[in-house]
Amino acid sequence: MTVNKVILLVIDGMDTVNLTLANAPAMSGIHGKTAVGVAHTEIIGAGAVLTPIAHAMMGTGSPDVIATRPGFENEGKCYNYYGEVVETVGDVARDADLSRVAVGKNEAAIVLGGTRNLTSSRLELDGIDPSDEKEMTREILDLFYQMEKGILVATYGGVDYTGHHKNVSGLIQAVEKADEIVGVLLKEADLQQTLVIIAADHGTNPITGRHNTAPTPLCLMDSTIAGRVNLGVVHNIEIATTIAGALGLKVPQRAVGRDLGELVQRLLAGEQVSLDYQLELERQLDAFFRKQPLRHEAKRDR
Ligand SMILES: [Zn+2]
Repeated sequence: MTVNKVILLVIDGMDTVNLTLANAPAMSGIHGKTAVGVAHTEIIGAGAVLTPIAHAMMGTGSPDVIATRPGFENEGKCYNYYGEVVETVGDVARDADLSRVAVGKNEAAIVLGGTRNLTSSRLELDGIDPSDEKEMTREILDLFYQMEKGILVATYGGVDYTGHHKNVSGLIQAVEKADEIVGVLLKEADLQQTLVIIAADHGTNPITGRHNTAPTPLCLMDSTIAGRVNLGVVHNIEIATTIAGALGLKVPQRAVGRDLGELVQRLLAGEQVSLDYQLELERQLDAFFRKQPLRHEAKRDR
């Protein structure tokens, strides 16, 4: 599938358990245009800054990447463990003259290579409340309509926020509000021209009030998808390659993983495709880490 626009909606804190607690018909694929995978979100050495790193992985397709939350003093670029800037799908889009748009939590900008790499934004630092689903929907649609060709990344904060406050019923409501955003997007976006990706950076457990690495949902929606396609186990790092594939862009330099849009097409064509994540992605990750210089070699080179 080649499209003009990609919307990546990141629902901060929504793991598969949080999703199934709520009534979420749009994300559950009731409209019959959804490919669904269960995503791994394990993040190496993430510590307390899970959310920015998860966004960095989605943008670069790279497993060894770090980023800090963008704000007035930090633009939110992605770096590898040697301190080098890592190319994101936003950098590739800039080189191809496509729009790079971010809405909601500031972390959304990380996917696109940082706040200075955006063509427009409605982020927290622009005064947006990322947990207000009505405001989020309005701003996403406004910028989506203005965009001719490009990537729009939106990060909704309501699920994570209520999870940290151990507000179980609030979290369930927040998932349902996120689902309303998805429902409107599916109605308003021309799915012939648009790929909608729904993902989560990590789970947030409303009993403990903490982040976790439970599996998260990953949904792809566009006009070519009929019924419900099972993607099996996927990884959030595959989002970068998937966005690049959908827009016909070069894959970011250090991206690993599969183009999930292409996988959907092969599954729809009835091809016998191995959905064995262990075989496919672990092989790629293995090759990736084998190519990495050891720390002492990296020092000598630089
Ligand atoms: Zn959080």
